Amino acid sequence: MGSITNHHAAGRHAAEAVNIGVLALQGDFAEHAASLRRAGAQPLEVRTIDQLQHVDGLIIPGGESTTIARLLIAYDLREPLIALGRRGLPIWGTCAGAILLAEEIITLDRPALHLMPMTIERNAFGRQIDSFEAHLEPGPFGSGDIPAVFIRAPRIRSVDDAVHVLLRLGPEHDHEPVAVQYQSILATTFHPELTADTRIHRHFVEMCQQRARPSARTNARTGEAHATLGRLG
Ligand code: GLN
Repeated sequence: MGSITNHHAAGRHAAEAVNIGVLALQGDFAEHAASLRRAGAQPLEVRTIDQLQHVDGLIIPGGESTTIARLLIAYDLREPLIALGRRGLPIWGTCAGAILLAEEIITLDRPALHLMPMTIERNAFGRQIDSFEAHLEPGPFGSGDIPAVFIRAPRIRSVDDAVHVLLRLGPEHDHEPVAVQYQSILATTFHPELTADTRIHRHFVEMCQQRARPSARTNARTGEAHATLGRLG
């Protein structure tokens, strides 16, 4: 009951009406675009300020955070993106993208976006386990474990009280958070775009729909999803 998943069928038509950007400077943006299409949304590759102004939400993909941080500055996208994020544009970062969203980043030597009150550490799973796959308890995402691929992933070291933890690793990793949301900012340290499971993409599409059509905020569907997120806080 009250899971986010149960509401997605209702949102499917509207999904086509929102423009969801995928930052396409470096990394696995094509995989995110494919997942968005599977989730019923129309993706838009974003490389310019103009394109950025026309989206209802933006995904920052996995890749190399140092490179993406450098290109954000080179393409003059960093400042506008910070301003849009502060004004409530939904932004979701996966892995390298999650790093760029963190307020504090351990071992990144250049400015990023700093929109999510958390501390993250790059490449923190150690060399011998650079990559692994886990099955996460779905929390608010309905029933059935969520497959999660971690590729030289960062670790979330701490989050502010205002951040909702949506998904965690198991006891072998002390239940550390791997999917977190703060207002309209979403971060996952793993790669939902590399699996067939579209639940997190659909959740992000819903966040963008609420932003695009604020009246949707009052309907029962989103109210219930918000209540679920609130309970998890
Ligand atoms: N290790 C990369 C970084 O620090 C992130 C890896 C990824 O996005 N899969 O930027």
